[in-house]
Amino acid sequence: MSYYSINFANIKSGWYRKTTEENYAVGRKVLDDHWGNICDDILIKSVEEYGTFFTAFSEEIIKKIDAALGTNFENSVRYYEYYLATRAYEIDTTRQIWISSYKENQGVKFTCPYCEKHFSLLDCHPDILQTLGIPPTHCRTCNYIVERYSAFWNADVQRRICNLMRSIDQKKDCEFCHKEYSLGNDVFTYSSFGNKFIDCLYPNLFINICQKCFKRTFNDYKRGASKTRLSRLYDLFMFTGEIPTQDFEKFYYMYKDHDSLIELIKIFQKLRTPQGFKEEFGSFFAALVKSGILPDGSKRMTIGTMVLAEDGHLCLSLPEKEIDDFLYSNSIPHDKEVYYPGCNMRTDWEILDTEKRTFVEYFGLMNNEDYAKKTEIKKHLAASNSIELIDIYPESNWKLLLSSFVMDDK
Ligand SMILES: [Zn+2]
Ligand SMILES: [Zn+2]
Repeated sequence: MSYYSINFANIKSGWYRKTTEENYAVGRKVLDDHWGNICDDILIKSVEEYGTFFTAFSEEIIKKIDAALGTNFENSVRYYEYYLATRAYEIDTTRQIWISSYKENQGVKFTCPYCEKHFSLLDCHPDILQTLGIPPTHCRTCNYIVERYSAFWNADVQRRICNLMRSIDQKKDCEFCHKEYSLGNDVFTYSSFGNKFIDCLYPNLFINICQKCFKRTFNDYKRGASKTRLSRLYDLFMFTGEIPTQDFEKFYYMYKDHDSLIELIKIFQKLRTPQGFKEEFGSFFAALVKSGILPDGSKRMTIGTMVLAEDGHLCLSLPEKEIDDFLYSNSIPHDKEVYYPGCNMRTDWEILDTEKRTFVEYFGLMNNEDYAKKTEIKKHLAASNSIELIDIYPESNWKLLLSSFVMDDK
């Protein structure tokens, strides 16, 4: 997909056409057999439209060719980009447009409005050109940031991101250890108790915290009496107003101001990890009961019924427990509450040991508007991360939907 990985010398010499190297040769013959004037016309139009950047749009071009010919080269021919580029060089008109457009764009730069860094247009990643236009509306790094915080984007967050990205390489003073640090190398640093989903940049939108102090908030703090450790869990409950689940690091994303984040981090610094609580009290659920967060014996919560599935997974409703018990009793390996990549939303289950990542969601409260919106975002997240999403609704025959994971030889 990346046009800069196309070696121009290889295009010129026709190497991609002649080579027998598997990567480039596979499928070439079938393209040769089908290629005709229609294909040339489609290619010419794209080169006219995008100039030297047409290689970033190879997928779009092959889709148009597939539509015109009734073929499926997009999915059956590997590295068709090289074929398209070679052909564009062979045709006089496209070769000339390509070369002159390349020359025109040499040295042309664009400035990212967020980080205010300058980037060469010719070096832009093709994905960015495809999704953000030519020139792109912002740079690739900032695009990750924009996507990371899209769920709670607003003017204030945008302003903070601009400030942070513009000073990303500058030295700052950590408000906890009072040492100097800079975040230039930590734009993609994540940490957590499990799935690495809290990014180091997030708290730095509101406070100054160095990488070390940030990572330390995920340490297992064991000091003190067992009573003290439970009371700290209770403090977390009181401070957040929410019953901590085993991924209570997600509380990071609940706060969008300086003082609250400082307060939260102070609690985190002296808290056991969910795993630590589990080891000490038998289960995380037990720690919740012993700390007084959950009333002894009673398991009724405002959000519904909190119940333990047979395998110990905490479920928020009876249908959820039924589904979890089904997975367990059919020996379908699964995890509960797994994060969608790079964001703070969780799926009810991930089915493990599958070829493609498979998430299962029980969408039980669809009358709630916020919930419906979240559902849409989740579907989008799954699709854009090539995750298979099995969505279950109260009226679904979920046993049928999950039957393909049940082993036959039982
Ligand atoms: Zn940027
Ligand atoms: Zn520090």
